[in-house]
Amino acid sequence: MDKVEQLEQNCWTVLSPEEKVAVHKIAGQYLKFLNASKTEREAVDYIYEQACQAGFIPLQECTELKPGQKVVMQDKGKVCTLIIIGKDSMEEGINIVASHIDSPRLDLKARPLYEEEGLAWLKTHYYGGIKKYQWLAIPLALHGVVIKKNGEKVSIVIGEKEEEPVLTIADLLPHLAKEQMEKKMSEAISGEGLNALVGSIPMDGESKSPVKNYIMQLLRDRYDIEEEDFTSAELELVPAFPAREVGLDRSLIGGYGQDDRVSAFASLQAVLEVANPYRTVVCLFADKEEIGSVGNTGLHSLLIENLLTEILHRAGITSYLGLRRCLANSFALSADVNAAVDPNYPEVFEKRNCSFLSRGVVLTKFTGSRGKAESSDANPEFLGRIRKLLEEAGVCWQVGELGKVDIGGGGTVAQYLAYYGMEVLDCGVAVMGMHSPFEIVSKADLYMSFKAYRAFMQDF
Ligand code: MN
Ligand code: MN
Repeated sequence: MDKVEQLEQNCWTVLSPEEKVAVHKIAGQYLKFLNASKTEREAVDYIYEQACQAGFIPLQECTELKPGQKVVMQDKGKVCTLIIIGKDSMEEGINIVASHIDSPRLDLKARPLYEEEGLAWLKTHYYGGIKKYQWLAIPLALHGVVIKKNGEKVSIVIGEKEEEPVLTIADLLPHLAKEQMEKKMSEAISGEGLNALVGSIPMDGESKSPVKNYIMQLLRDRYDIEEEDFTSAELELVPAFPAREVGLDRSLIGGYGQDDRVSAFASLQAVLEVANPYRTVVCLFADKEEIGSVGNTGLHSLLIENLLTEILHRAGITSYLGLRRCLANSFALSADVNAAVDPNYPEVFEKRNCSFLSRGVVLTKFTGSRGKAESSDANPEFLGRIRKLLEEAGVCWQVGELGKVDIGGGGTVAQYLAYYGMEVLDCGVAVMGMHSPFEIVSKADLYMSFKAYRAFMQDF
């Protein structure tokens, strides 16, 4: 008997008719969010705008913070935070829900554009954990920003509208792939082989690199940028197709970047419904999780400390002791996804402890690999309280471990939050085909994670 038969059930069976309507409604909004937010910058723009529409005020406009007040701040266009000031003193701790809005993708190199065999190409450097073959033979859209020497920021999105062209990385035809097919999957496609095709028309009267120069001329005409400007750019190739409903019963969502924008969206919808909480609420959308939370927009930095110092200062807590107490007394949900059992690969999942699609939000006591390396192992006292909260809030939940013990592993931002002494638990939805260009989640799980985050922020 597996764990499902013992303790956990398909949440569609416990949803009331009204709740089923709510599930499909939130899924519809989620599809719009996914299609509008294919990069961390676009996600920040979306979240910031939603927050402002819901009455959140930019932090820089607030000199004082009082209970009930709602503020929003963004950092470097790649991190966003929504805060609701609670009735209790922040020294007693706050409730944090932290997700990440970066996803695996192909970044352009600093000198990406070149010509070979009469065709123009863009060189890429992949970001995050990808299976390289999944990025071949699919339409790709180019998203990002270019900063010109004069400081001007040019935003670029090419390949999302039906009338726009897309880019692509061609795959080798099977007729000539005998040797390639005999290679290990990890070696069959090289990182340097991920070059995107961008054009084939030579520029009139040009003898040297005419095709490349014609592409550069098009970019110059449309965006007023020069080749050198790629040096100070962040341009990302992402799947060009939109997120869709999956399954004849429309119970699932397929799309790019659901790790971890599903948690970002669920926690955003949740925080927008929270009002006058006892404990201050911080709903954080972080960058760079996919490469280890490093850098000044990742959570393995002073980002959260700097942010809280600003907030505490405005709430009248200016001492170092106050900051340390606030952090150490806090509770956090690391809102990130787990791997859903895929019965096509039974050899990597331990079905008594792994998570399943449509069985509710996943509570992951620890992540990591091998002997729990790089994990934050949640304290059972905290887990016990969260279980009680979810049951009282009518949230379906399940436990989840990321695959069999010796198979592999992964981490989340949990360890960087736990560093401060706060209680942290990983809590998010199960994803099938994680890190692929078309990841799959269950609408019911999305809804349950939304309810879980809302209960945690409002009542915990
Ligand atoms: Mn993640
Ligand atoms: Mn990931």
